[in-house]
Amino acid sequence: MVRETGYYDLLGVKPCATVDEIKRAYRRLALRYHPDKNPSEGERFKQISQAYEVLSDPLKRSLYDRGGERAMKEGGLGDRGGFGHPMDIFDLFFGGGVHHHGPRVDRRGKTAVHQLPVTLEDLYNGATRKLSIQKNVICQSCAGRGTREGVDTRCPKCHGSGVEVMVNQLGPNIVHHIQTMCSQCHGHGEWVRPLDRCLACNGRKFVREKKVLTVQLDRGMADRQKITFHQEGDQVPGFEPGDIVIILNQKPHPVFQRQGNDLVVRQEVPLVDALCGCKQAIHTLDNRRLLLCSQPGSIIKPGDVKCVPHEGMPVYRNPTQKGKLIIHFQVKFPEPGWLPAHQLRQFQSFFPHREEAMATEDDAEEVELRDFFSPQPDLGGGRRFPGGGPCHREDFEDPLRHNVQCHTS
Ligand SMILES: [Zn+2]
Ligand SMILES: [Zn+2]
Repeated sequence: MVRETGYYDLLGVKPCATVDEIKRAYRRLALRYHPDKNPSEGERFKQISQAYEVLSDPLKRSLYDRGGERAMKEGGLGDRGGFGHPMDIFDLFFGGGVHHHGPRVDRRGKTAVHQLPVTLEDLYNGATRKLSIQKNVICQSCAGRGTREGVDTRCPKCHGSGVEVMVNQLGPNIVHHIQTMCSQCHGHGEWVRPLDRCLACNGRKFVREKKVLTVQLDRGMADRQKITFHQEGDQVPGFEPGDIVIILNQKPHPVFQRQGNDLVVRQEVPLVDALCGCKQAIHTLDNRRLLLCSQPGSIIKPGDVKCVPHEGMPVYRNPTQKGKLIIHFQVKFPEPGWLPAHQLRQFQSFFPHREEAMATEDDAEEVELRDFFSPQPDLGGGRRFPGGGPCHREDFEDPLRHNVQCHTS
C-alpha cells in the first residue's frame, strides 16, 4: 500500500510505474530543468533528482512506499541515505562525469611516442617518411556509445554508482549496511546486455584503425628531435585525443660523426702524402666528391685537425648555412722493411741533420725496443672514432701518444 505519492508526483508518474517509465520521466524532466538550461529551477531539479534517486532504487523505493519521505530520512541509510549533489546524479545518468553538455573539454588522452630510425643522409638532405600506426578511433556505427541506439548503459544493479549497499535490519531502528563494489559492473557503473552491444565495436566504443602518418624530415634536423602530430593519438569518448610524438633516432654513420652543425671525419693519409702534400677524396652525404688538398711542402702530422668551412651539416630552418667539415688526420706509416737497408742511408740524407746518441761503456747501455701490447685495449675510455677498425698506435685518440708528447715537450 503506497502512503505517499510526492516523489511519484514530482516525476509525473503513477505509483505503479515501472523502472523504465520512471527512468524516461526523469530523463525528460532532468533535461528540461537542468541548471545549465534553466538556472532559476535549481530547487526543482534537486527535488526531481532526489525523487529519482529513491524511486530508481528498489530498496529505497520500497522503504519510501512503506514509510514515505520520513522513513527515508530516519530509515538509517547512513551515508547512502543522504542525497548526492544533483549534478552528480546527472553525470551518472549520462555516463560517468564526462562532459556531454557543452563543448568544453578539459581532459586529454595519452601521448603516444614512436621512434623513427633515420640516417645521417636523411638529416643532411631532408626526406619524407611514411609511418604506419594503429590507433583507437571512436566507433562510427554507435558514435562511441558502445550500444544500440537508445539503450541505457547504466548498471541496473548499482544504478551507475558502481557500489552495492547491503542492508541488514538488526532491529526496528538499527540498520547495518555494508558497501561493496558492484558485482555486476565491477565498479564501472555501466553495464550493457551482450545483445545490446554495438556489433561494429562489440561494445568497446572504439575500433582499431590503421593510419599512415607522413613524417617530413627537414634538412639539419637533429638526432632525438621530436615531431608532434597533434590529436592523432587514441580517441576516447569524452576526451580530447592525445598527440603522437615521433622521436628521430639517427643510426650511426660509418664515415661521419655529427657534432652540432659540424661533421667530423677521420682521414688516413700515407706518410709520403703527409710529407709531400696530398689530395684525398671524400664522398659527401649528398654524394659529391670533395678533394682535400694540402700544399706541397706543408706537413700533416699524426693527429692534426683541419677543417673545411661550409661542408658540415645544414643548419636546421636555415639550410643554406652549413657547419664545418672537421678532419682528424692519421698518418699511415710504411710497413717494416719497406726500404732496403742500402737505400735507407740515401733516404736519411733528405732529412735535416740529426745528432745520434753515442753509447760508451761508461755512461750508457744499449737496449732493444720491443712491441708493447696493453692488457687493457680500451684505455681510451671506450672512445672510438666512427669508421671502427683497429686503433693504430698513432691514433689521435691514443692516450699513450699524449703521454709521450708530455714527456718530450
Ligand atoms: Zn560501436
Ligand atoms: Zn553496477
